[in-house]
Amino acid sequence: MLGAGAVAGLGLVAASAAPAAAAQQQGSSRTRTHIVLLGTSGGPRQFADYGGPEERSGTASALVVGDRYYLIDAGEGVLRQLTRAGLGAVKATGRDPLAQLAGVFITHLHSDHVVDVPNLISLGLFNGLGRPERPVPLIGPGDRGILPPLYGDGAEPPVVNPEAPTPGTRAMVEHLIAAYATDYNDRARDNRLPVPHQLVDARDIQLPVGIGADPNTNPHPAMEPFAVFEDELVRVTATLVQHAPVFPAFAFRFDTEDGSVVFSGDTGPSENLVRLARGANVLVHEVIAPAGIAKLYPEPRSPEDEATYQHVLRSHTPLEEVGPIAERAGVDTLVLNHLAPATLPRRAFAAGGKGFSGRTIVGEDLMVLNVGG
Ligand SMILES: [Zn+2]
Repeated sequence: MLGAGAVAGLGLVAASAAPAAAAQQQGSSRTRTHIVLLGTSGGPRQFADYGGPEERSGTASALVVGDRYYLIDAGEGVLRQLTRAGLGAVKATGRDPLAQLAGVFITHLHSDHVVDVPNLISLGLFNGLGRPERPVPLIGPGDRGILPPLYGDGAEPPVVNPEAPTPGTRAMVEHLIAAYATDYNDRARDNRLPVPHQLVDARDIQLPVGIGADPNTNPHPAMEPFAVFEDELVRVTATLVQHAPVFPAFAFRFDTEDGSVVFSGDTGPSENLVRLARGANVLVHEVIAPAGIAKLYPEPRSPEDEATYQHVLRSHTPLEEVGPIAERAGVDTLVLNHLAPATLPRRAFAAGGKGFSGRTIVGEDLMVLNVGG
């Protein structure tokens, strides 16, 4: 199926959910386990014509399982989108959108996937984030360990933070907390609020030994999925995907009692991803529309534009290749996500279902996709 009409009786409901509609459809139309696409825009670029009917917020998705939800990436606007989606818990004075957040999973450390991590932590103090006896795990890539190679000709650029130029998730969160220390100390002393370390437990994903991964020469070795998290409701496995020179870049699979959901993160076509997604109910996969990308970077290109253009082509999945990936993985439903360029209308991504015999859905912000039930 292309589009966002309700698919009653198929075990999966895709419902367009503009903010008003999102509020209306809470309740019976949502099954115990469901996906909420919070932000479906691909890339850090902001567009002047945002604000239209197909506005897309920064990359983030939620997987709701019962009374908890798990967040996959934290792109621009994530807290606002969680609030609009009606997630969280209601209390006497309003809704705490982060009150049911049980884990944050970061696919990779590109800014469009993590830019609102400080927002989650800082505003989280007032919006239900974690409890001192149960801090929210925030899990993501570890330190890259070495700078990426220099693309093209020209002088070596300055190195940012040369004593630690490629921090992983845990160090990133430590730096963010240090950067906002004035506020946190004020809130702790004046408002008696917890400090961030009591509410968030940032961890680096440890790669399995012996897979032969190397940040610059072998960032995407063939490998088996490996476990990164488990609680009473979900088991999360990961694999390395192809988003060079970003390393590590992960896809995540969530296995629940109601079904399995895979989030590709940013990746070019990846055999590891196919292996991870094998037999899953829903594959949420990134995609680019190459013709639209070419229009964003018209010739003749400056060296900076050329470098960005080539990165986009190399490390993302073109529309015509995503359907066959879903077919080989044998999933039931393919959801196109992280749409780039984000300003193209939905119909521009409709060809993404070609070569896939299951259902294909073009993602929209605040779309709800039921899993099982
Ligand atoms: Zn990326």
